[in-house]
Amino acid sequence: MKLTFKHGIHPKERKELAADSPIEVMPAGAKVYIPLIQHIGAPAEACVAAGDRVKAGTIVGKAASYVSANVFSSVSGTVSGIVRRTNAAGRKIPHVVIDNDGEYEEETLPPLVDPTKEEIIARCKEAGIVGMGGATFPTHVKLESKTPIKALIINGSECEPYITTDYRLMLERPENVVSGIILLAKALGVDTVLVGIEGNKKDAIDRMIYASDGIEGILIHELKTKYPQGGEKQLIYALTKEKVPNGGLPSDVGYIVLNISTAYAVYEACVLGRPCYARFMTVSGEAIARPANLYVRTGVPFSEVVDRLGVKEEYVKAVSGGPMMGISLSDLTPSVSKGSSALLLLTEREIRAVRPTTCINCARCASVCPMNLMPMMTDALILQDKIKEAKEYYPMSCIECGCCAYVCPAKRPLVQSQRLAKKLIRELKI
Ligand code: SF4
Ligand code: SF4
Repeated sequence: MKLTFKHGIHPKERKELAADSPIEVMPAGAKVYIPLIQHIGAPAEACVAAGDRVKAGTIVGKAASYVSANVFSSVSGTVSGIVRRTNAAGRKIPHVVIDNDGEYEEETLPPLVDPTKEEIIARCKEAGIVGMGGATFPTHVKLESKTPIKALIINGSECEPYITTDYRLMLERPENVVSGIILLAKALGVDTVLVGIEGNKKDAIDRMIYASDGIEGILIHELKTKYPQGGEKQLIYALTKEKVPNGGLPSDVGYIVLNISTAYAVYEACVLGRPCYARFMTVSGEAIARPANLYVRTGVPFSEVVDRLGVKEEYVKAVSGGPMMGISLSDLTPSVSKGSSALLLLTEREIRAVRPTTCINCARCASVCPMNLMPMMTDALILQDKIKEAKEYYPMSCIECGCCAYVCPAKRPLVQSQRLAKKLIRELKI
């Protein structure tokens, strides 16, 4: 039996749109707009000014606290200023604007040869590495866990529909991914690495087994194809049958979870000396003329990414990230950041837009929830402004995976209700 977790759903995978497109490198346009917030934690503080010459890899924003990350120029050229622009989350934040000279001169860090644990962690911090699956939590913070760690878990499930970049990385550059995994294991001081890959990527599983052959401690496991298989708690359960306590972290039970793209970014930073200024991104959806997996420099506006691949029909929704947990975009002006795992242009056929109606108490939402919550209760209580009562249904444990909303026949906005409940509980300190 394939490893998995309890509950969850089987949305249409739609990976066939981009899965067979090899990674292609996209050049940047005349200007890039580098957001100073590309991570969870304190915004980076600008350390360049108009007129400064920069290279790809020059630091332009310094981490402002421990939980923060350095931000880099992705092209060579001249800083033209710092402006406030809307990011993918719809917030106006400062961006460093750089006029691209088209030369792509690089500023790299010295490659590390047989680094120590401390040197790897320091490099992750210096190179601004964050969780590249979309979570964007600074990696050095995870690596400096205060609790004892038994094993590193590598998330190769890529369970969100449409997204295929981790798949392509495992297929095309498995040795580099494994090199990053070895560095991460060394940084954590663990001998065991569990790599979980969904069964819909059999060729990637084979490549990873081949690339890690002879390396002790790296165990590649096939997982059942189910959403949200890549959720940290779901992945840990699938691989170890251990449960992360309610409100707890993976490190509480001795695990650190990082994904394939993050391992690759660690390889780039340590072996090539390249700071985190570009990322792999799936651009897909039925409205995209040529769905693709791109290696894109941060700061490139989404509109330029779409122009490169073309639009073949009208789209009704643009999404940054996957369709389940991504963010709807009001337009394509935001630019690529470290967390931009995908950009989707979806047609009416793909989103089946329907108006919410009254809950019919069918309990389907509860039956699929991987966190064993009762989303219909939070939804009903929030509608009545009963925040205290809503808290009794543990909205703080919701991982916002969207399974409940996906199956709800009444199309209730269940994830939004959970988010609202969390926000009100925090604001009102209940
Ligand atoms: S309540 Fe939260 S965790 Fe449960 S299915 Fe809905 S979004 Fe996912
Ligand atoms: S799935 Fe929708 S209709 Fe059914 S109980 Fe949940 S909220 Fe109500």
